[in-house]
Amino acid sequence: MTPRLLLFAASLLLEILVPEMAFAKLIVVTTTEDPAALTRAIGGERVEVTALAKGYQDPHFLDAKPSYMVLLHKADLVELIGLELEAGYLGALLSGARNDALMPGRQGYLDLSQTIQPLEVANGADRAQGDIHPNGNPHYWLDPENGRLMARAIAARLVALDPDGKATYNGNLAAFETALTAKQADWEQRMASLRGAPIVTYHRSWSYFAARYGLTVVGFVEPKPGVPPAPMHTLELIKLIEAQKVKVILMEAFYDRRVPDLIAQKTPVHVAAVPNSVGGEEQVHTYLDLFETIVTTLERQSRN
Ligand SMILES: [Zn+2]
Repeated sequence: MTPRLLLFAASLLLEILVPEMAFAKLIVVTTTEDPAALTRAIGGERVEVTALAKGYQDPHFLDAKPSYMVLLHKADLVELIGLELEAGYLGALLSGARNDALMPGRQGYLDLSQTIQPLEVANGADRAQGDIHPNGNPHYWLDPENGRLMARAIAARLVALDPDGKATYNGNLAAFETALTAKQADWEQRMASLRGAPIVTYHRSWSYFAARYGLTVVGFVEPKPGVPPAPMHTLELIKLIEAQKVKVILMEAFYDRRVPDLIAQKTPVHVAAVPNSVGGEEQVHTYLDLFETIVTTLERQSRN
């Protein structure tokens, strides 16, 4: 091989290898696992994503650990659910992180609630009554079509922060949307037998899911969002479940099952304890896995 040819071969090799090595990964921190899963699906190798709250934890409460500030200090992007879900800790973490790029209004701050149509936007009076979600229900990621909107917003932000990755991000978004559309058709079909069915949920967290699949939420195990079960309320709920022939109590697996199980002993209702986030159960690795698990559990628990 002549020196010229050798040089040519070397430059060719560089061209093949360098695109893999030349960019530093975008560092993304999300408050919960669902935006993290969506960001991994869209960002692929170009992103390094960490979720603060794990999928098996109650996302309303998180200890603001110093290690989270270190993570945020180094991050290029923080993604949050918003609607005050993280009100108890994110402000403190962000000010402790001393990272101007992640301040509200900057490209490094993505409040995903801005991308969806919030339900249950209450008047201020409800806060005084103990409602922990006075600005609208933050559990919107439990409608897969909201997941689509979240994914689009995430892709657009990744492109803005890392224009070189545009083709990758848009390609991965398209692939995600195609897979979501196919799965969504399947879930709609499997949920059809429950359309119009009355259900009870533990927390007021299934409004978007219920709206998507035509379920009617007639009661809650919690007397008010964020307030633990109370005997008088539970007795009323038992009467309601009997009167309306409610088949399912839908709840996040991290809540205490004792009261729902007690109700299930007194009435023909079944308890469907499901993950409400990616990582909520071992087999739930992706955003699509999450709904697959929820729909499968509901099919099983509502059959008899
Ligand atoms: Zn909530």
